Amino acid sequence: MEPVSPLERALHTARALVLADLVADGVAEADVVSLVEESVVARRWWVEQWPDGVEFVAGLIAQDVQDALLERYGRWPLCPVCGGGEPHALDVEPELGADPHWVCHKAGVRVAAVGSLGPAAGGGARGA
Ligand SMILES: [Zn+2]
Repeated sequence: MEPVSPLERALHTARALVLADLVADGVAEADVVSLVEESVVARRWWVEQWPDGVEFVAGLIAQDVQDALLERYGRWPLCPVCGGGEPHALDVEPELGADPHWVCHKAGVRVAAVGSLGPAAGGGARGA
């Protein structure tokens, strides 16, 4: 058995967190999952160049997937906090930092940690 490096652990965790949020929103289809895999590959390379960035991969992968989904599917994840008005996506904060959260800049609130979108959004616009 090969030892699991901190980098691989961080990537594994990041992948699981972003997938959990995709599942929570019902968008974890095969082609969407492959967007996550592409981002994991790209960020593995990125952290190999800059090992201090290992804590940032969850937030970065969330943003990569968000950008990729915007091109193919539209905004994700939609803000569950603001009722009415124009639908808008949440943003990852910090963009480059540890402990990333989804925030709504319109309402100025932290909605959920990346990976915890499901329970936080459960009472939102989609209904239960
Ligand atoms: Zn909002």
